[in-house]
Amino acid sequence: MRKVSVFGATGSIGQNTLDLIARAPDDYDVVALTGGRNIAQLAKDAVALKADLAVTAHEDLLDDLRAALAGTGVEAAAGQGALTEAAARPADWVMSAIVGAAGLAPGLTALEQGATLALANKESLVTAGPLLMGTAKAHDATVLPVDSEHSAIFQGLVGEDMAAVERIIITASGGAFRDWPMEKLASATLEQASSHPNWDMGQRITIDSASMFNKALEVIETKEFFGVRPNQIEVVVHPESMIHALVGFNDGALMAHVGAPDMRHAIGYALHWPERRPLPVERLDLTKVGQFTFRAPDPERYPALRLAQEVMQTGGMMGAIFNGAKERALDAFIAGRIGFLDMARVVEAVMTKMSSDTGLIRAGFTLDNVSKADHLARVTADELMSGT
Ligand code: NAD
Ligand code: MG
Repeated sequence: MRKVSVFGATGSIGQNTLDLIARAPDDYDVVALTGGRNIAQLAKDAVALKADLAVTAHEDLLDDLRAALAGTGVEAAAGQGALTEAAARPADWVMSAIVGAAGLAPGLTALEQGATLALANKESLVTAGPLLMGTAKAHDATVLPVDSEHSAIFQGLVGEDMAAVERIIITASGGAFRDWPMEKLASATLEQASSHPNWDMGQRITIDSASMFNKALEVIETKEFFGVRPNQIEVVVHPESMIHALVGFNDGALMAHVGAPDMRHAIGYALHWPERRPLPVERLDLTKVGQFTFRAPDPERYPALRLAQEVMQTGGMMGAIFNGAKERALDAFIAGRIGFLDMARVVEAVMTKMSSDTGLIRAGFTLDNVSKADHLARVTADELMSGT
């Protein structure tokens, strides 16, 4: 039996992960499940999967979680310290599916124990790529990509030599507003930005898909995970969301990963790696799919992609600054305090303002420095948005 833990178990990726684990209960010994405010879901899953421990990120919900788990034998804990303690418990495979920069610390702790980290939390690589990959190396641990594009690239590289890779193409659905005229985007509402044409995901990544901030994060994620140069990474809009990524080799060949837009493809690949096992996903009938279409992303419509290039050129703590500012701008959009197009303006303004702080940007990749850059970016974003 493999010992597994799922961080962010109550979210979209977390629930898809538990779905796969629950289909083969004899294969897995569930150590820890973590969640946020959805105590009922967390408790229900922890009991059903016989987890040792359930953790909510919110200390004020400890009593609620304890009450929900009373008499079940599942231990209850709450708060940041409890998340770290859960990540330190020995496990063979750990799913990192907390949303946002909050996912970094538990992932690092899991790697320090030598666990295989299935990484859905792309923010870990955007904010601290060298730290995460360096920690894995130092502890002989493995990081496996769970983002669909990165899983697709990873699968395309099996048995290949990285030296033969010329280019990596990641696809973007274009999100909720891909066919909207530019003039309408400024007045896009939260509700409109929160529905994705192809994927069923958490609210934050759904809005990030509409603004292309998600793809911007993924371009940086590609650079950090695969160690390629920024000019080797291309983004192409592919509205069908069936080709997830392509790897281009030095002989001109392109290897594509094709599958229905179902995250259990990528989660299952990471769960069973290095084997392949049957997965409960749709088998595509290509005659029904009919056609795959592609177009270049419009740089005016998607400033986030240009900002990603700046992040990669600057390096250092700029990834944490970019992500921290983006998270605050997204919070403000969700709260109705700024418009849809303001998100990129806020992020760019924070990057410009903080770019002169070379001491911070060039600080070494430690969790403390990354947290500091993340914090300052959030404070700067708040100041800019409140006009102070
Ligand atoms: P979600 O919002 O559905 O779930 C997030 C999970 O994290 C929940 O369990 C929530 O309780 C927990 N959480 C939120 N804030 C937290 C905090 N501060 N501390 C601790 N726990 C916290 O998100 P999701 O869509 O499942 O995405 C999770 C991660 O996977 C993100 O990094 C996202 O970019 C990535 N991802 C998601 C998809 C997808 O299809 N949903 C695809 C690719 C990558
Ligand atoms: Mg993705």
